[in-house]
Amino acid sequence: MDGSPPLTRREKNRKGGPVVRPYDPTENDMKLVHTIPDLRSTISTLPRPLGLVPTMGFLHEGHLALVRRARAECAAVGVSIFVNPAQFGPQEDLARYPRDLDRDLRLLEGSAVDVVWAPVAAEVYPPDYQTYVSVEEVAQPLEGAVRPGHFRGVATIVAKLFNAFTPERAYFGQKDAQQAAVIRQMARDLNFPLEIVVCPTVREIDGLAMSSRNIYLLPEERRAAIVLYRALRAAQTAYTNGQRSAEDLRGAMRDYLAAEPRAQTEYVSVADPDTLKELDRVDRNALFSMAVRIGKTRLIDNFVLRDGIWLTGVIFGKVE
Ligand code: AMP
Repeated sequence: MDGSPPLTRREKNRKGGPVVRPYDPTENDMKLVHTIPDLRSTISTLPRPLGLVPTMGFLHEGHLALVRRARAECAAVGVSIFVNPAQFGPQEDLARYPRDLDRDLRLLEGSAVDVVWAPVAAEVYPPDYQTYVSVEEVAQPLEGAVRPGHFRGVATIVAKLFNAFTPERAYFGQKDAQQAAVIRQMARDLNFPLEIVVCPTVREIDGLAMSSRNIYLLPEERRAAIVLYRALRAAQTAYTNGQRSAEDLRGAMRDYLAAEPRAQTEYVSVADPDTLKELDRVDRNALFSMAVRIGKTRLIDNFVLRDGIWLTGVIFGKVE
């Protein structure tokens, strides 16, 4: 004995080399950090590979599915919780966006996360902040067209997260399909040495895609919100029945949405899943997506057709 404290399980693993630590629910040494120096020094103690799950908090099963995937594939897992002001427009819901850090931390402790970074806005964007990341073409249509500046904010915060965490892998949800495409492009263009992993959309039992914003929905609106999933299913059925005209497939979604009086369609799209350019015909690959207002709440959803296979997400608690 040299008088130093006993090694933690994590330190033992480090000494033994890059061992992927098995999930151990009894181990609970999740670190909560707020500043970038604290984050960096915590990360320097973690085994590799490190998986990063960026979030805006108010966590649900969609986020936790990303954490579980990272846990399964990486030796250490970091989560960021930050409602990023730079990605909200002036008329958007930044001030009322739901926040509950205590609840989030309890959920993450149960998922064997190693480090949570929950900075205040001034840590991320100090008063003299001047640098933004702007991805071009892939950020322009769809969400980019109706939310000007949104992806500039997203790309900027994600680039900062990549620099701060230096992860080997970063996990994102298919639910935000364009966001995943924008980040993939940014990571490639800026040579971030990491892998972007896109995970299936997790849905409520009736098909509604889980979202922190679902909490805004009044009971009647919640019932109406299932129309997004059903409209996507309608397009999928039309495709399965042989419809290949992208405009007719968009029409199938529009018609379905129009039948729900509480739904106001912002856009429906059938686009190339990588470039996000609208298609004329659908063959093997397409992103079917939409943004719809239900009352005051703006919801988005999508299905992806890739190599003839439909990626529609998973219903929570059910094997589809
Ligand atoms: P947010 O906190 O909404 O910014 O989301 C953080 C991450 O979780 C993003 O990569 C989202 O795409 C992902 N995510 C959000 N909702 C879901 C969902 N229902 N299923 C899968 N991933 C999701």
